[in-house]
Amino acid sequence: MATRIVAPPKKVLFYSLRILARPLNSVPDQPDGGLQENPIHDRSPSSSTAAPRPSPPIDITDPGRLFSAVPTAKLINSATNLHAVAVGPVVDLGIRVMNSRMIMGTGLTRAAVVGVVRRTFYEQFCGGEDTVEAAATVRRLNEAGLRGMLDYAVEDAEDNPSCDRNLDAFLQTVESTKTLPQGHVTFLIVKISAICPISLLRRVADLLRWQKKDPSFHLPWMQHSFPILSDSTPLYHTAERPQPLTLDEEADLLLAQDRLRRIGSRCEEYNIPLCIDAEYTAVQPAIDFFTYSSAAEHNRHEPIIYGTLQAYLKDARERLVLMSEAARKMGIFLGVKLVRGAYMASEKKLAESLGHESPIHDSLQETHDCYNDCASFMLESIAGGSGAVVLATHNVESGQLAAMKVRDLGISEGNCLLEFAQLYGMAESFSFGLRNAGFRVSKYIPFGPVDKVMPYLLRRAEENRGLLSASALDRQLMRKELWRRLMTSFF
Ligand SMILES: Cc1cc2nc3c(=O)[nH]c(=O)nc-3n(C[C@H](O)[C@H](O)[C@H](O)COP(=O)(O)OP(=O)(O)OC[C@H]3O[C@@H](n4cnc5c(N)ncnc54)[C@H](O)[C@@H]3O)c2cc1C
Repeated sequence: MATRIVAPPKKVLFYSLRILARPLNSVPDQPDGGLQENPIHDRSPSSSTAAPRPSPPIDITDPGRLFSAVPTAKLINSATNLHAVAVGPVVDLGIRVMNSRMIMGTGLTRAAVVGVVRRTFYEQFCGGEDTVEAAATVRRLNEAGLRGMLDYAVEDAEDNPSCDRNLDAFLQTVESTKTLPQGHVTFLIVKISAICPISLLRRVADLLRWQKKDPSFHLPWMQHSFPILSDSTPLYHTAERPQPLTLDEEADLLLAQDRLRRIGSRCEEYNIPLCIDAEYTAVQPAIDFFTYSSAAEHNRHEPIIYGTLQAYLKDARERLVLMSEAARKMGIFLGVKLVRGAYMASEKKLAESLGHESPIHDSLQETHDCYNDCASFMLESIAGGSGAVVLATHNVESGQLAAMKVRDLGISEGNCLLEFAQLYGMAESFSFGLRNAGFRVSKYIPFGPVDKVMPYLLRRAEENRGLLSASALDRQLMRKELWRRLMTSFF
């Protein structure tokens, strides 16, 4: 939860009071329609004749209880920001500005653009410019009963010097956790594209895919046999047999692996697990290669290295089963962060341009089913003592299903192998509902200079666009809570 306490500027206050003044059960949120009163992911039947069901384990119906730890000024600020970044034309403009050269240039235009992005998207979704500000954010989260996953938000380094600079920043991030009480930070987050040149990642991914097509194709640098691709993984990115890595490329690969080894060892020393993000399919096999080489080294006694599985991919469930079997045979923990996936538009576009079927499930419901299925599988692994999972989602229905499964399996809500996680500035009510139900909950906190976090902000802007966006439930509940507080102060 973004608990930065900032006095709202007058305009913001005026806008916030206008929002508050709307009647509660007819809240036109945007010109094109009214906001639904039902939580967006609640697919329960609306008919009052439906048979009574046991109450769901996570209660997100009482805004007073959910936001009890959030000061009013902060609530106004969050509600205002979330409303602003959900208005279609504002998001479109924001995306155009963030994509434009204005953000890269110098002088007054850049300063003005950065200023606007900072007061809206950045303030809502990022935890600060540096480790000091990020640590302060983690402290504020902790006061609200939540913890933090620290993400120095850089991606796509082009060369070794940039990778080395990013490595230093990651090591410094781990170091910065010393200033915080134990347990405030649950994970360090790393993107492999920040510590291995992106062109090399593409080459390694191509070679791994070609080996899947032709198992006799020898990869001398491949030290483990962890299954990275399954029989249903699409291989269309690699149409021709790639050249083996050159000596220089092999040397660069060793450098990149060494960077990851150094981060992993520092995390192990500080007892903070390292979670590696998933990116796009063109490079994901290479990312998994890095991740599971490192897991084989560090995960013997406890899960230190976690990979990320994107449930929107058609092959997700099959790969999870293969990885789990391999981990069991190797006698290591399989640590997985389970997400739906954030690169849907670009994945579909790429597959189409290459004349292939999209690697993403044909319907959203199939993605939901795959997510819930994989979550259930990982919870069973926890019960069996061989796995650990971060259920990274804003989807309340997935949360309810997982919580019920946790109960059925007799796993304790506070089990340290199970973490729920939401992005900083998003799904606040869900995070508090999970916390109130006794689960361990972290917020994923990207931090870094405004221009560095731009690709991340663009993905968040896309996700929060429109009425049915991820923030719709939060906006509705925050408004209710602000109205309740206003009424309480009058009567
Ligand atoms: C803590 C955390 C860490 C994350 N780390 C990563 C990461 O490493 N890599 C990564 O890629 N993403 C990551 N994400 C983002 C994540 O993948 C999602 O983009 C985001 O969380 C929304 O999914 P949800 O589970 O919250 O579900 P919901 O709120 O239910 O959102 C579902 C969304 O999925 C999309 N979708 C998926 N499949 C389909 C389909 N077949 N048809 C139509 N729409 C579809 C739609 O846009 C839909 O709105 C992370 C998210 C969190 C919370």
